[in-house]
Amino acid sequence: MKRPALFPAFIIALLFTACGNRSRPPVAPPAEDSRMPAFRAAASRLPPATASSLESAIHGNEDRFFGLIEAAEAESLAAGGFLVLVDKNNPLPASFEPSDLVSLNDYPLSVSRKDLRLRKAIMAAVLELNEAAKNDGVSLWFSSAYRSYAYQESLFARNSSQMGESEASRVSARAGTSQHQLGTAIDFGSIDDSFASTKAGLWMAANAHRFGFSLSFPQGMEEVTGYVWESWHYRYITKPGTELEKDFFGGVQQYLIEFLAAYRALR
Ligand SMILES: [Zn+2]
Repeated sequence: MKRPALFPAFIIALLFTACGNRSRPPVAPPAEDSRMPAFRAAASRLPPATASSLESAIHGNEDRFFGLIEAAEAESLAAGGFLVLVDKNNPLPASFEPSDLVSLNDYPLSVSRKDLRLRKAIMAAVLELNEAAKNDGVSLWFSSAYRSYAYQESLFARNSSQMGESEASRVSARAGTSQHQLGTAIDFGSIDDSFASTKAGLWMAANAHRFGFSLSFPQGMEEVTGYVWESWHYRYITKPGTELEKDFFGGVQQYLIEFLAAYRALR
């Protein structure tokens, strides 16, 4: 007599299960990351192909991407701006001069001239870079560093008189548009194409990013950067910055800095 009594209970349980399934609400699609609208708006300032490969690169890596941006921006902000957009369309004011310039003569570095200065805020990274090169048997020669607006003005005038204004603007910056005015850009070695194949040039190309230094004007990117390839010119953009540049922006500093300027303004 016990067995039939169990039967209705089993059926009731089945019905509950079935009803439960039928009444369960449809699974909602995962919520869009709240950082994406600003991301898309900033990315839309980049060339379409670059924006779309950037979006693919961050897909599934959103936390790492936005975490690196936060880290880079925090370091930059604390130091008074390592990630400022300076290019042919975005000049610095003539009066802009970093307040923490120090002479490279006071540091254990090899300099090509005695009047070189950089921002104190990047000297720890500079020394780390120099030490790592030395440990690998490579000597880095610091050939040009901070340049004032006035100095850049005279340099551009000299280049213009020698090669004409149009050619001069491919190889040198007009006053206000040089990264050197930031005090965070360095020219190494011979300051010409022969640097690329030297031991120092090869070492920098392979390792500079590990210390937060980025090649500003890569080969074949003149349409993007406005300048011919400068294998000797590096700018400090923080370590998270070089990680972003390498892993998400195809190794192109200009795209990263342009993106950051737009993203910063949208937040
Ligand atoms: Zn330079």
